[in-house]
Amino acid sequence: MRRFEPGEPVVLRELWRGRVFAARPATVVWDEPDLLVLYVPPRVTCAVPVGPEGEELRIPDRPFELELRERGSTGVLSFAWPEEPFGVLRWTVPWAWYVNLQEPLRRTPIGFDTTDHALDVLIARDGSWCWKDEEELERAVRLGLFSPADAERFRADGRRAVRRILAREPPFDLDWTDWRPDPSWPTPTLPEGWDAVALAEVPRRDAPAEGG
Ligand code: MG
Repeated sequence: MRRFEPGEPVVLRELWRGRVFAARPATVVWDEPDLLVLYVPPRVTCAVPVGPEGEELRIPDRPFELELRERGSTGVLSFAWPEEPFGVLRWTVPWAWYVNLQEPLRRTPIGFDTTDHALDVLIARDGSWCWKDEEELERAVRLGLFSPADAERFRADGRRAVRRILAREPPFDLDWTDWRPDPSWPTPTLPEGWDAVALAEVPRRDAPAEGG
C-alpha cells in the first residue's frame, strides 16, 4: 500500500473485534519506512464511542454507538514505528511524553488502524514516569478483553518505550515543542469510508476484472 505525502489527511482508527471503536482525522507529517509522524489538529471532528447514558467509553465494556464530537483545544503530534506496539505523543506540561500502548499501526488506503491496549505511560520532563490507566487495563482483563499474559506484555512494551525515550533515541533527541504544522496543510476531516471496517479488503482499483 502506498505511503502518504506530508500534509495529506488520513484517518487513525481504533478497531475492536471487527468494529470501529473510534476514528480521528490526522495530517501526515512524515511517512517513512522507519518512522511515521502524525498530527491531530485542535478541534477536529472525531468519531467517539458513547455508551447508553451518553458517556464516552475508554474500553468496549458495554454497548456503544459512535458519535461525532469535536475534540481537544490543543493539537497532538504523535510518533509510531513499524511493528512497534506503542505510539508516543508529544504531551503538555508537566508531562513531556505520553506513550499510548496499542497494536502496531496497520496501513489502510485512507490511513491507519490499531487497537488500543488501555494502559498508557506518562513521562515527565525530569525523566520520572508513571503508568496511566492501570485500573482500566485490570478491568479489561477481568472482562476477558485481554488476557493476563497480554497485560504483562503491554507492561514490557511500556518499559521499552520509556527506555527509548529516556535514552533520547531519535526522534526523542529533539524537543519538538516548537514544531508547528505547515499552515498550507488542509484541516483533516473524517474521509469517506472511515466507518467501513474491512478497508484492507477493499479490492484495488487495478485488480483484474473477474473472469477477465
Ligand atoms: Mg491508550
